[in-house]
Amino acid sequence: MFESLSEKLSGIFDTLTRRGALTEADVNVALREVRRALLEADVALEVVRSFTDKVKAAAVGANVVKSVTPGQMVVKIVHDQLVEMLGTEAVPISLDSLPPVAILMVGLQGSGKTTTTAKIARRLTDKEKRKVLLASLDTRRPAAMEQLAVLAKQVGVDALPIVAGQSAVQIARRAMEAARLGGYDVVMLDTAGRVTIDEALMAEVAQVKAATDPHEVLLVADSLTGQDAVNTARAFDSRLGVTGIVLTRMDGDGRGGAALSMRAVTGKPIKLVGTGEKIDALEDFHPRRVANRILGMGDIVSLVEKASETLDAEKALRMAEKMRKGSFDLNDLRDQISQMERIGGMKGVLGMMPGVAKMKNQLDNANLDDRVLKRQKAIIDSMTPQERRAPDVLKASRKKRIAAGSGTRVEDVNRLLKMHRQMADVMKAMGKGGRGGIAGALGN
Ligand code: GDP
Repeated sequence: MFESLSEKLSGIFDTLTRRGALTEADVNVALREVRRALLEADVALEVVRSFTDKVKAAAVGANVVKSVTPGQMVVKIVHDQLVEMLGTEAVPISLDSLPPVAILMVGLQGSGKTTTTAKIARRLTDKEKRKVLLASLDTRRPAAMEQLAVLAKQVGVDALPIVAGQSAVQIARRAMEAARLGGYDVVMLDTAGRVTIDEALMAEVAQVKAATDPHEVLLVADSLTGQDAVNTARAFDSRLGVTGIVLTRMDGDGRGGAALSMRAVTGKPIKLVGTGEKIDALEDFHPRRVANRILGMGDIVSLVEKASETLDAEKALRMAEKMRKGSFDLNDLRDQISQMERIGGMKGVLGMMPGVAKMKNQLDNANLDDRVLKRQKAIIDSMTPQERRAPDVLKASRKKRIAAGSGTRVEDVNRLLKMHRQMADVMKAMGKGGRGGIAGALGN
């Protein structure tokens, strides 16, 4: 998977990174090639379009960091957009619920659903030490039920005994009851597949879902079917509400379009990928690793990352010098705000701390802070260069103009000015050292 796309992309960027200065025309030519390569890889048109638009917007606004070429910078931007298109972070299967936790496996016949069910069961048993019960709900194909029983034995987990004549919902209820009585942690329900999507199938799975309240609804899709896999996922999601996707046959020589479009089109994370027929051929989906593999330019990406860190360090030094001289003006404040934004604002900072992702409320509150950052920047942007350098000239009429220009109120402008004054004072005091650095600044 991805080989031919990877080859094409690295060809395009090789020519870019060899050049010195980069013109907009160079970027346009490269992006046209990127667009073609993605379309050839069977990535959905709408996804390709938004991808190249975003790369272009980011490339135009980017400050090229000292010590890397503009071409290398473009590679980094493409890489970052690729990571975003793939979903940014790996999303594991969640078992965060009262046991027995139900996992509903859905998908078309032949997608690899039954095999994947067994693969996941084995992983949950081996790695997470969970007690897992498997149940096949494929009432129309006794062979499918047998297949799951055989696989269960192979991976060493229990399968619900087969009782002839029961409906899918009856089997699902029986599985949940057996799991409760037997002290199982997880029940995996392997629903019936069809060759194509039909309403009878959807209705049946919807009933099972209502009866079992699954914590995960995993759609299994064959990556070799390209855009069909994406459309299948969309159809299942709109009818059943899918929580994650497992893409199978990633070991095949598909063009990669399904993996690349899936997240952007469905909004649902690819949680796992199947990479072979063997029972242990199941891997987590790591957007960053996949992007690195596709671009094959991990070296350049880390070079630019390092160089950006150096840039920040240079800026910090300059800032320290300003502090020393007591000349921290509103331009500097704006830089500081941008830096906050770049690391993702308050939400980004919080999001980096382990365990915080669950504290949804707090993150939503932090979101407010990000809006504050934007507003503060807008206020500074509405000032003249002279006002930014010497905020003392700001009297009532100028403040009114600035408030109007930034879509804020005069109180907001005042609040920003007060914050700047306080920061400048603290910095001046710290810069002077004298009375013991920070202690001095705090007036002790
Ligand atoms: P189901 O009808 O959706 O339950 O599909 P099955 O689980 O029976 O799988 C159909 C075929 O695909 C089997 O021969 C599996 O061994 C094979 N298969 C499943 N997942 C993968 C995978 O990730 N890679 C490869 N190469 N084959 C797979």
